Amino acid sequence: MHETVWASYACHPAYTRGRRYPEAPAPTRSDHQRDRDRIVHSTAFRRLVYKTQVFLNHEGDLFRTRLTHSLEVAQLGRSIARSLGINEDLVEAISLAHDLGHTPFGHAGQDALNACMAELGGFEHNLQSLRVVDVLELRYPHFDGLNLTFETREGILKHCSREHAEQLEASEPGGVGQRFLLRQQPSLEAQLCNLADEIAYNAHDIDDGVRSGLITLEQLREVPLFERYRAQALAEYPQLHDAQNHRRLLYDAIRRMLSAQVYDVIEATKDALAQARPRHVDEVRTLPALVQFSPTMRTESMVLKRFLFHNLYRHSRVVHTTDQAKQVVRELFALYLECPQEMKPNFAARARGAGDARRCARVVADFIAGMTDRYAVREHERLTGRQWLV
Ligand code: MG
Repeated sequence: MHETVWASYACHPAYTRGRRYPEAPAPTRSDHQRDRDRIVHSTAFRRLVYKTQVFLNHEGDLFRTRLTHSLEVAQLGRSIARSLGINEDLVEAISLAHDLGHTPFGHAGQDALNACMAELGGFEHNLQSLRVVDVLELRYPHFDGLNLTFETREGILKHCSREHAEQLEASEPGGVGQRFLLRQQPSLEAQLCNLADEIAYNAHDIDDGVRSGLITLEQLREVPLFERYRAQALAEYPQLHDAQNHRRLLYDAIRRMLSAQVYDVIEATKDALAQARPRHVDEVRTLPALVQFSPTMRTESMVLKRFLFHNLYRHSRVVHTTDQAKQVVRELFALYLECPQEMKPNFAARARGAGDARRCARVVADFIAGMTDRYAVREHERLTGRQWLV
């Protein structure tokens, strides 16, 4: 097993709070390594390859998908975790699972599904990721879901409304819903995944944004975090001024920016840990968030986020496709609610046994949330006879 020296505040696998259905330990893997392996082998994980991050899957082969995004989060997370002496395997497990509950078509799909479910219990993608690993994956003979450890499930449930936290607490007292009621933090490993997620998408959305032609290198010069590293790269390698080297310039600036953010998180978090001196992960949970950027990097990262929000996520071309995506989700939801037998047989059977409209709607939401972009488009075409207009 692991020969790493664990920090006292790490989520040590030997002290896991365990699985909901007790299982004998694996001979060669820690419980968190085993969680990671279960996630990689899950059906929901394979679907991530055909799910949108920002650009729809059919818009190009080189844009990030939820799968490549999740791998980048895991890479950044592991590298930071190692420097902090915390549990890399747990960070990897959470990173790879953090987006499993995402609907097709990225945030547009999630917003549309949440609107459809407004009177029926709502739809939250973090909660859905937990539902995927707790309930929806059907792979084991004696339980539903993947039966992951508490620590991985805690990390997957990044946000949760009070209403849903109360429901979780009722079905699993002292479980993963409790911290939202007590207003506590999760483990350092889980905190790290949140930040690695943000670092990853800020960087790769710059790359994808430029690749798509929706934003330009020139425009990015107004973002201090990017401009500093672009200038550094040019000073060191003047040949990057040549037009034919623009992509190398972009990559070099992004690489420098990523490294700077990673080192910043490591330093700022080490400082916070040195001040707070938690001796155990349970102490970490009662303290304010400790995995953090320095105040300067936090501000600069916000500026970059705002830039991406206004210039990329709100770009008319992106908004046009997301409007269409929302319509597809809304119409699919109405169609399946009306005719549940149109869903895949196991979902149709669950809908028949649902008993009431609220439960039936949840089955429909589970079915739609699990779809890849292209499957949703095909289903919409099959059921409406209308084609996606790109
Ligand atoms: Mg993410």
